[in-house]
Amino acid sequence: MGEEGQRRLLGSSAVVVGCGAIGASTAQLLVRAGTGRLRVIDRDFVEPSNLQRQALFDEHDAREALPKAAAAERKLRLLNAEIRTEGVVADLTPRNAEELLGGFDLILDGTDNFETRFLLNDYAVEAGRPWIYAAAVGSYGVTLAIRPGETACLACLMETADAGPALEETCDTVGVLGPAVSLVSSLQAAEALKFLSGRIEALHGRLISCDVWSGRIQSIGVARNTDCRACARREFSYLEGQAQPHITRCGRDSVQIHERRRTLDLGALEGSLRAAGMAVKQNGFLLKFSVPPYEMTVFGDGRAILKGSTDPAVARSLYARYIGA
Ligand SMILES: [Zn+2]
Repeated sequence: MGEEGQRRLLGSSAVVVGCGAIGASTAQLLVRAGTGRLRVIDRDFVEPSNLQRQALFDEHDAREALPKAAAAERKLRLLNAEIRTEGVVADLTPRNAEELLGGFDLILDGTDNFETRFLLNDYAVEAGRPWIYAAAVGSYGVTLAIRPGETACLACLMETADAGPALEETCDTVGVLGPAVSLVSSLQAAEALKFLSGRIEALHGRLISCDVWSGRIQSIGVARNTDCRACARREFSYLEGQAQPHITRCGRDSVQIHERRRTLDLGALEGSLRAAGMAVKQNGFLLKFSVPPYEMTVFGDGRAILKGSTDPAVARSLYARYIGA
């Protein structure tokens, strides 16, 4: 990186969206390395089950159920007081994307769901801003640095004409191994440091996928899709809010998540929730499970009713965690 690179790093800024497993590890690496300004955005609070993989949090944070963004800010400041570190407790939506992400040199994916990742991709492609995709589940992880106009974007990689709605594995149903998280966030942070220190030529631009259980690691070149919805046709359906599940209040303490574009396999969902140790009832039409103090009822068309809260952010978070975006 050299002295000049370190100076540039100190004058740079990055925003980490989602401060769970990957977000916390990457934020820590960037703050220790001397990234001048770092914002961390997260909508959830620390739970005891997070501690096996979420490097910035401890038992005290979980007992107090502190917002992850607030707990992360405090820890990051202890690691390197010279860095301007800021934790923002918020749910990223099309409406607040510009306010939360605008003006940063680089956006880092620390989210746990594809709804938010596609929103990040739309925002970044539209604004011509680089971002780094990273995900981990089970023992497996994947990451790709995206420079709009130069490299493939997330829509090039994942949106194909027949992309039917599939049941997604999530960290809350199948779990995630701490070392898979550390590996993927290290790969993500390395690309981030090259970018922020001005060493663009050193970015490898490849999709890295790795499995710490099997030892299989792949580095794959990804071509741009000349008909990509986002980076070729410039249709930003996630940024325009059309792709976001519509959430309305129903009853005194319930909200309904409207999902029209997917079909859920309720039997498969029942299996994965049971495997995660949850009590589930399913009758072919609907599936019911509880995450105290909430209860969620999911229908075959992807619609769901959350009882116990009227907060859309809670509904979105629980839906993403247990059903998948
Ligand atoms: Zn694209």
